[in-house]
Amino acid sequence: MIVLGGGNTAMDCCRSARRLGGEDVKVIVRSGFEEMKASPWEKEDAQHEGIPILNYLVPKSFQHEGGKLTGMTFEKVKAVYDDKGRRSLVPTGEPDESFECDQVLVAVGQENAFTWIERDIGIEFDKWGMPKLDEKTLQSTLPRVFFGGDAALGPKNIIWAVAHGHEAAVSIDKFCQGESLADRPPPHMNLVSQKMGIHEWSYDNNVVPDARYAVPLKELKLALKDIRTEVELGFDPQLAWKEAQRCLNCDVQTVFAPKLCIECDACVDICPMDCITFTPDGEEAEVRARLNAPSDNASQDLYVGAGLKTGRIMAKDEDVCLHCGLCAERCPTGAWDMQKFYLEMTHAGPGCRSRETPRQAA
Ligand code: SF4
Ligand code: SF4
Repeated sequence: MIVLGGGNTAMDCCRSARRLGGEDVKVIVRSGFEEMKASPWEKEDAQHEGIPILNYLVPKSFQHEGGKLTGMTFEKVKAVYDDKGRRSLVPTGEPDESFECDQVLVAVGQENAFTWIERDIGIEFDKWGMPKLDEKTLQSTLPRVFFGGDAALGPKNIIWAVAHGHEAAVSIDKFCQGESLADRPPPHMNLVSQKMGIHEWSYDNNVVPDARYAVPLKELKLALKDIRTEVELGFDPQLAWKEAQRCLNCDVQTVFAPKLCIECDACVDICPMDCITFTPDGEEAEVRARLNAPSDNASQDLYVGAGLKTGRIMAKDEDVCLHCGLCAERCPTGAWDMQKFYLEMTHAGPGCRSRETPRQAA
């Protein structure tokens, strides 16, 4: 059996096919292995079950004999990138590859189909057949109709769909109250110090260098026997505890107060990741290059503290910080603090409205 496609659905299809009696199951994908849409752990699990994933092969034809499928032929391609980094798949010129099969599962993704929406009711669609929306409010061109999830802005994931649901609910609440949908209260944010003593924090700041612990799996022979068998056994309490120790406390931030800093460099010396630098100000790209540990991930903002007595800045590469708190423990003036970040989104209801409803006022 051949499964066409490189997403998580293709991984589900091939693994289900193995369990339903498919002995020779392979996944064949147009793109390279790294670019496949499937999550890395889904690809790992499929390969663990003995399913080969063959890349850079574009379907060309089906072969059949006497009305029965016998195989498929693929053209070999390679990825070529233009100046803007856009990828195209071009034939390598090598001979086509053929694979025997008696079944093909096509798992190449789904598209929205809005044929059920009459085109004269006021909802406008773009050239790809997607509804024209205000991306912030999710309101369509028919003001009382809102979209969310994959139907709104194309395929994303369940987390986006839930977020769309909240945003659309705020829009609908304000719409029903006769308020402007564009006028939306920002989320509530807060930072709270975690200091409990000189060297004591209210969170476990010990850094554990362990690699990720794999979730134990059912023995392969048993897992493939029955499609209803649960494959992932989950962590036992001991393994769960070890895995939890790897937490990097990403909700706890390093907060810098330039006014308190005496530029003694003690935090620079103690930081295990070399992510703090006191340096003259300059153009961002140039500053990034001369940090103690050069910061080349431009998509991650630098944390910069200005207003130091020498006129220098404190620049910190947030990408590599372990949230260990050693800088804050070492600082003699309390210029560094470890603070927990709280975020509260605005939800539909009285809190999202600009004015008081008669009920609130009462
Ligand atoms: S929290 Fe730890 S890793 Fe992060 S800046 Fe401070 S000392 Fe460095
Ligand atoms: S240890 Fe404190 S006072 Fe010294 S350079 Fe760092 S932030 Fe400034």
